[in-house]
Amino acid sequence: MIVELISVGTELLLGNTINTNANYLARMCAKLGISNFYQITVGDNEDRLFNVIKTALSRADILILTGGLGPTEDDLTKEVTARVIGRRLVEDLDVKKSISEYFRKSNRKDIPENNWKQTYVIEGSTVIENHNGTAPGLLITTDDKKLIILLPGPPRELIPMFENSVVPYLRKLMPGTFYSETIKICGFGESQAVTIIEDLIEGQSNPTIAPYAKPGEVHFRVTASARDEEEGIDLVRPLVNELRKRFKDNIFTTKEEENLEDVVVSLLEKYNLKLTTAESCTGGLLSGRIINVPGASSVFDEGFITYSNDAKEKYLGVDRETLDKYGAVSKETAIMMAEGAAMSTGKDAGLAITGIAGPDGGTLKKPVGLVYIACYLRGKVQVEKFNFNGDRQTIRERAVIHALNMLRLSIINQYEK
Ligand code: AMP
Ligand code: MG
Repeated sequence: MIVELISVGTELLLGNTINTNANYLARMCAKLGISNFYQITVGDNEDRLFNVIKTALSRADILILTGGLGPTEDDLTKEVTARVIGRRLVEDLDVKKSISEYFRKSNRKDIPENNWKQTYVIEGSTVIENHNGTAPGLLITTDDKKLIILLPGPPRELIPMFENSVVPYLRKLMPGTFYSETIKICGFGESQAVTIIEDLIEGQSNPTIAPYAKPGEVHFRVTASARDEEEGIDLVRPLVNELRKRFKDNIFTTKEEENLEDVVVSLLEKYNLKLTTAESCTGGLLSGRIINVPGASSVFDEGFITYSNDAKEKYLGVDRETLDKYGAVSKETAIMMAEGAAMSTGKDAGLAITGIAGPDGGTLKKPVGLVYIACYLRGKVQVEKFNFNGDRQTIRERAVIHALNMLRLSIINQYEK
């Protein structure tokens, strides 16, 4: 099955609106196992839209169009689609009723005249109800058995309609199912991680491994095409086990919805540990990531942002001599920050970051991207030196991820080995 995504709207071509619909629909279609070869963006122009639909029908089985279903003159998607496939527009009384209902619920008595345009649907189509707006979606099977799906542009209308009505419909069309598991790894760059499993990626057909990199993390999605979920699990399992063997503790989760901070907070909770942070160049990003996790209050009371030397001395007890002798960006200072944070608050763990995020402030000996991370946990302290690439924001994000990972590994080593 091949799908083509067509985004309609001049605002998209002008760059005024980011095309999040295409991004969303592409991800959803990939999940459903539907191949997507072309994504087209076209303005609110009758002739160009006509040609785009015609071309798409010549090379895809399913067309998903978003936008141009509104009540105004420039909304043409329905009219043009009808013309391409040689169908008429007919009034739909149910749609008329639900538009009146929509206005009644939002306490508006005077329904704008042009909204009645939305009561017309393409002959022979199935209406997809819109509970968050007035433009209904349409599902049309053409005479030569192609499927055309028309959806409104606003994401808050499109997403629920797609998930509630279109996904179940598409699932029925797809023979079998796709089953996938994701393995998330920290501590390797993408190319390094891919090299480790090159032999597994080579010549793969079913299941497949798809790498995906974000700053500091690499995700491998293992997907199998199968008759049902059970067969999918059987197909995916050996490959997932092989990845586990190769990446060992570097795998922080295999759950799609779980991220690194969730894992760290769960581990702290599991061993009844309390954490405090001491951040210099990341200025609160680390504590922010921890507080992202609902329920983080059971493991986290406070964190320190100690940007200046004075603050490091005043709140964390880093001594002046260490700062003068080794500098604020040094392994000695990082260790004192981690220990000092834990000691001054009476916590089990202290996680500290100090580094040069740039763009200025680097020297030959201490270049931009140099970051020391120290992790204190119940009497043991470790420190690591990193040289991160990237701009200020990327360096700070990478530092946070590696700090979280260091704490995760410290807990595993101290409590699970
Ligand atoms: P419509 O009236 O159906 O053409 O859609 C109207 C609004 O939906 C636009 O003003 C945008 O704010 C939003 N919209 C349309 N297309 C997209 C898209 N591809 N991605 C994100 N938002 C969109
Ligand atoms: Mg529009």
